[in-house]
Formats: sequence, structure tokens, C-alpha cells
Amino acid sequence: MAERAAAARPVASLADLQALPKTELHLHLRGAIPLSFLRSRLRRRPPAAVLDAAPPGHLRLFSKHPGIRDLLEADDPAADLDRLFQYQNFEQFLAAYLFTVHFVRTIDDFRALVGGVRAGFGEQRITYAEVTVSIPEYIEQGLQLTEILEVLAEDPPGGPTVRWIVDPVRGYGPAKAEAHLEEVAARRPQTLLGVTLGGAEHLFPNRHFSRAYEIAREAGLRTTVHAGEAAGPESVWQAVRTLRVERIGHGVRAIEDPSLVRHLAERGIPLEICPTSNVRTGVYRSLAEHPARGLFEAGVQMSINTDDPTFFSTSLAEELAGLRKLGFSWPEIDGLARGASRFAFASAPAL
Ligand SMILES: [Zn+2]
Repeated sequence: MAERAAAARPVASLADLQALPKTELHLHLRGAIPLSFLRSRLRRRPPAAVLDAAPPGHLRLFSKHPGIRDLLEADDPAADLDRLFQYQNFEQFLAAYLFTVHFVRTIDDFRALVGGVRAGFGEQRITYAEVTVSIPEYIEQGLQLTEILEVLAEDPPGGPTVRWIVDPVRGYGPAKAEAHLEEVAARRPQTLLGVTLGGAEHLFPNRHFSRAYEIAREAGLRTTVHAGEAAGPESVWQAVRTLRVERIGHGVRAIEDPSLVRHLAERGIPLEICPTSNVRTGVYRSLAEHPARGLFEAGVQMSINTDDPTFFSTSLAEELAGLRKLGFSWPEIDGLARGASRFAFASAPAL
């Protein structure tokens, strides 16, 4: 009854948003890694032992993050975990993000991670989530594709509905993305609905992945891609014209090209907007500079999301409430919170 009452009442505060059953469409599995998961792993094995199999490239990156250096030397690293999430630039954020993959060394770790993220959705009243999973990163840790897909296929009744978006990892290049998607397509669980590409779009442009997206489409996967985050409008144009995606991850830098904004609005291509992420990774210097309001007023469809909530110390309710600082009214925020399910790749459960 309480849930139904919260769903019926228009939101007018952060507490209302926290109580409202919500949909989230853009966040990464490890971006939502529970702190309790990291602490428990750090208590089991010291970080230096965790990193014993890390490739030299990772170790070089970690050495540039003062917080990781501190953790490696700390007497009780689990108690100093906050240091991991203090970064001054995008490279240090990437280092922190990459650091966490080394805590997922077995399929039991992976299952515990998925379970922890799922429980977090329950606590936040997120009833439907599409979670991006970068499977090749876990295969690099020694996990098997088949066992990963088995975990992703698990669909426990009663809790939040979790659906998956596969990210073949842009930085491995188009040929590996194509091969990975062929393999996934051959064994795709019904819970895996879509494809995206995260990462450095300016170094590995979207237009190089048109064949990968054809493979995904042929396998019945729905399509989104990170664009207009690290790179400008050209990357978004490639997403809509070359990859022909249904949604765009971020897409905020479309604001730099009025003809692109018109195109997105006319075609009804929704953006997965993640305001805090864009500030924390340096796309914008402050929330005040974020173009969500301009895009909204131009008629661009959008959902609001967290991207990497653990790394940005945020939650979906806080992202939505934060729109007040950008000039959104409570009724507009209410509409965005409830409207996100329209853009889901599967129909969300009835609220
Ligand atoms: Zn993302």
C-alpha cells in the first residue's frame, strides 16, 4: 500500500523521489559496486595481493592515483576505502574504476557483485534497471563467458527487474567487438536486451563500430551508445547516422550543434542524461553549465541516470532532485522520473 501511495502522489521533494518506484537506464555494473562488497574483499586479501595478476599498464595507471597508492600501504585498507573515490581528473577516475575489476576474480565474486547491485536497487526503490556489463573485462580476470552469461540469465522473482546491456569495450577495437558480439549472440540469455559502447569515443570513434552494431541488431539486441560525452556533436551524428541507435548514452554535447538538437527532438531519440557524472569526469566544470535544461526546452526526450553511482557518490533520486538547480520544476522532474520507463528496452513492470 505504501508503495502504491508513493507512486500516486506527484513528487515535490528528495524524500518523495526516494519513495517513488523508479526506472534507471544508464549505469554500469561496476559503477554501482557496493562499498560493502569492496570492504569485504579488502578484508579477505590485501590490495597488493589482489593486484598480483594486474598487467603493467594497469599498475602504471594505479601509480598515478594517490588514493590507490595510500590503499596499497594502509594497515586497514577497508577503513580507508574513501581514498579510492577522491580523484582530481579523468585519468584518476579511470584508475579507480579499473582498480575495482581486480576484486572480481571468480564467478562467485561476479555473482556476489550482481547480487549486491540488485539489492542496492531494492533499497533505492529502483524497480527496473538496465545495467551495462563490460564482459571482456571479467574474461580478462579469468572468468568464462558461459558462466558470466549464466549469472546474467538469473532472474529472481520478487525484487527489482534487472536487464542487461552488453558493452564489448570500445578500447579493444572493432574487430574484437564484432567477435565478442557474435559469441554473446550465440548464447544470449533473455535478460540481455541491448548493446552499448562506453569509454573513449574520441580515441575509438563510433563510426568504426557499424559492423559490430549490425551483428547486435541481427541478434535481436536493442541499441544505444555513449556519444557526445568525451567527444562533440560529430560523435552523436555518427551514433544516429552510422550506428542508427535507438537511444544515446549522454549525448549532452549535441547542444553544440543546433541542427543536431533539432534532429534528436524531431526523431524522438532519447538521451540517457547523467548530470553528476558529466561534472565529475570534467565534461562540464559545474552543474550550472550542464545543458540538460537547454536540451529539454528544445524538445529532446531524456531519462535521468547515475552512470557510476558508487564512484560519484550519488543516487537516482539525488540526480533527479538535482535538476531543481538547473531550473526544472517539480512537475517536470515528476514527469522525467515516471517517463523513463517509456524508453526502456523491455516494458517495465506496472507500478
Ligand atoms: Zn556510461
